[in-house]
Amino acid sequence: MPVRILNQQQVTALLPMAECVDLMGKTLETLSAGGAILPLRTMLRLPDNRGIFGSMPSYLNPPDAIGLKAITVIPGNEGTKYDSHQGVVLLFEAKHGSLEAILDASSITAIRTAAVSGVATRVLARPDAGDLAILGSGVQAQTHLDAVAVARQLRRVRVWSRSRANAEAFRTQAAGRSPCPIEVCETAEAAVRGADVVCAVTAARTPIIERRWLSDGVHLNLVGSSQPTTREADSDTMAAARVYCDRRESLLAESGDFLIPKSEGRFGDDHLVGELGDVLLGKVPGRRSVSDITVFKSLGLAIEDLASAHLVTRRAEAQGIGTVLEIGGLRH
Ligand code: NDP
Repeated sequence: MPVRILNQQQVTALLPMAECVDLMGKTLETLSAGGAILPLRTMLRLPDNRGIFGSMPSYLNPPDAIGLKAITVIPGNEGTKYDSHQGVVLLFEAKHGSLEAILDASSITAIRTAAVSGVATRVLARPDAGDLAILGSGVQAQTHLDAVAVARQLRRVRVWSRSRANAEAFRTQAAGRSPCPIEVCETAEAAVRGADVVCAVTAARTPIIERRWLSDGVHLNLVGSSQPTTREADSDTMAAARVYCDRRESLLAESGDFLIPKSEGRFGDDHLVGELGDVLLGKVPGRRSVSDITVFKSLGLAIEDLASAHLVTRRAEAQGIGTVLEIGGLRH
């Protein structure tokens, strides 16, 4: 059977942020409506805490497709030529089970993760939210700027990173795409104070956000941590917030941002208001007032990769993009 291979540049060109935000909204709705089969991901931990190899299978209907993301996450790659997330997404059609496409996973991960935060911002941030703080300056910082700009009209953008040089490099790289000048801040506090939307996209293991810095009415996208032992927001922030997630089962198994304050007795599982898809379907309420603090805790779901891979592959077929190989799959 013919298998289409799509590289990083091709995936990026075929998956514009605004369209990915809409696609992720529909995908999370499908999840909450029962249209997905989504086991928790398997994480193989490499020796010396070097990183992980993640295996993320899923089925989604629509579009009646199967996917598997196989990805390494090596935080030490930061500052080198290597992306910290590398791998492939395999796309199968579900009628006969044939492999249809092999796609670069770095680009899909970069775009779909931010697009999901774009959905969360669209659904949970105040309608007039225009003051953005980005904590972190890597791959996700870049795509989160694009995603939040899709969701809201930005009038101020601040960035903080541990390394000022990294924050300056972010500003230089993003300047042409930002609707307003980007300010580099010396501290996370200086970036966050007065912000309407905060995106935490770091590999921090301990909190970089404190409740006392946050304004009433702020919306936070917490993206960086996906392990029970690490987090980006302190317990007071989580306790004060209306908390939403991409998927309840993932949050309760993988999120240190939620599980650490829970283990301290700050709240129970019922502190989770609901999944984003439930809010989109009108099953659970979103923000209730302009002063609510809302948190979207992103863990990252295999169906987000699958839906992105499916859209990109259909487009690549229509436009004749990619390399097509006969790999096998027929009786012989
Ligand atoms: P990069 O390697 O490109 O960037 C990592 C960023 O984290 C840098 O800005 C770095 O900046 C910062 N950082 C590293 N260590 C610390 C620390 N101890 N305290 C504060 N900041 C730190 O990674 P990505 O942008 O691709 O990913 C960012 C995070 O998001 C990662 O943790 C990643 O695992 C997670 N992620 C989550 C996804 C999801 O679906 N929820 C999907 C993809 C990624 P500096 O060195 O200047 O501090």
